[in-house]
Amino acid sequence: MDFGYAAEDEAFRLEVRAWLDEYAKDAQDRRGWERVLGKAGWIGLGWAEDGYGNRRASLTQQVVWAEEYARSGAPARSGHIGEKLLAPTLIAHGSEEQKARFLPAVAAGDELWCQGYSEPGAGSDLAGVRTKAELGADGNYWITGQKIWTSLAHEADWCFVLARTDPESSRHHGLTFLLVPMDQPGRVEVRPIRQMTGTSDFNEVFFDGARARAEHVVGGEGGGWRVAMSLLGFERGVSTLAQQVGFAQELGRVVRAAVETGAVGDPVVRERLVRQWAELRVMGWNALRTLGRSGDAGAPSVAKLLWGGWHQRLGELAVLVRGAAGGVGPQEWSAAAPYELDEAQQLFLFSRADTIYGGSDQVQRTIIAERVLGLPREPKGVV
Ligand SMILES: Cc1cc2nc3c(=O)[nH]c(=O)nc-3n(C[C@H](O)[C@H](O)[C@H](O)COP(=O)(O)OP(=O)(O)OC[C@H]3O[C@@H](n4cnc5c(N)ncnc54)[C@H](O)[C@@H]3O)c2cc1C
Repeated sequence: MDFGYAAEDEAFRLEVRAWLDEYAKDAQDRRGWERVLGKAGWIGLGWAEDGYGNRRASLTQQVVWAEEYARSGAPARSGHIGEKLLAPTLIAHGSEEQKARFLPAVAAGDELWCQGYSEPGAGSDLAGVRTKAELGADGNYWITGQKIWTSLAHEADWCFVLARTDPESSRHHGLTFLLVPMDQPGRVEVRPIRQMTGTSDFNEVFFDGARARAEHVVGGEGGGWRVAMSLLGFERGVSTLAQQVGFAQELGRVVRAAVETGAVGDPVVRERLVRQWAELRVMGWNALRTLGRSGDAGAPSVAKLLWGGWHQRLGELAVLVRGAAGGVGPQEWSAAAPYELDEAQQLFLFSRADTIYGGSDQVQRTIIAERVLGLPREPKGVV
């Protein structure tokens, strides 16, 4: 993809590539890898403020970093929730003390974060949050309730939690955004959820009188909805471009598998492969078109709709091109490892979630209908 890189950006690319060549191959332990990245200053590129241990980098250089990272085959980041969601939120809404306390630890890869929004009765309808937080006489908030689908909670040191501080309130009023330490035995319990891939990437999180310090409220008591929505709106442009480098690699592997199995001889399969390729190009151009532009209400929803469905269809193709072999695991069944999946099967099963998280397809379509096309608002059910 031609992004029009200047000479200094290409020099930056060589620096990034050399560093990743040297270090990424040893990145087995994901937590240790975050610290290696942090020590070299690669976390927090392009935060709207520097001086917290992060490096300055232009938008183009952030794209270069993300592209090279995807190409290097380095592990999926476990620090991305802190770096890409919490940090920009603190920069926009946090106090100076909050920034000084939390940003350097994110940039160093020392503290990992998870996102405590969804609850059993509040997913797409996030304003239905029922987890409670009460300000005690000791100046701390005491939190009780349950979150669900909390990615990486089993690795995280901190969780940002949307909780109801005004018991009389309803919907998006009376909610507060709290920074909660996870290491509170007996008060914070993380229960992994086993997925159909056999792995556990997300969790249920139970708060039973968990403590958050009053100075760790972001945006003031009752100001949680504004902070929570602002966090969801952070520009995903740069990471979308990087994601597409990964998508291109996955598509390349599916095409090679189709050639090896002979599935490519089927004109319907060929047409689907070419369609995936063409749609990936369109996504790339769309990402470049909207990069760095704010205020385009529909852009994030359009991007999410495009890539979620695309990736899911790629997962279906990955298994389809392998014929009957696509349904057989890579290992003999054994009680010790009953659930071995190969890469294509993992892609197929994981990508079922792509049209749900980060706002489901139906919700994205409603956003586009109401905020971009100006169609009448969706009728709300009477309860
Ligand atoms: C892989 C993964 C990781 C996740 N990680 C996190 C995390 O770290 N932290 C966190 O807080 N949450 C996380 N989530 C939760 C995610 O945000 C929710 O699953 C999502 O918001 C949908 O909510 P729900 O599951 O409650 O489904 P529901 O909201 O109950 O939706 C069920 C179905 O109804 C449809 N629907 C709902 N409302 C409408 C409407 N108004 N109009 C039309 N259709 C509608 C939906 O599109 C969906 O098809 C994760 C989810 C997944 C799959």
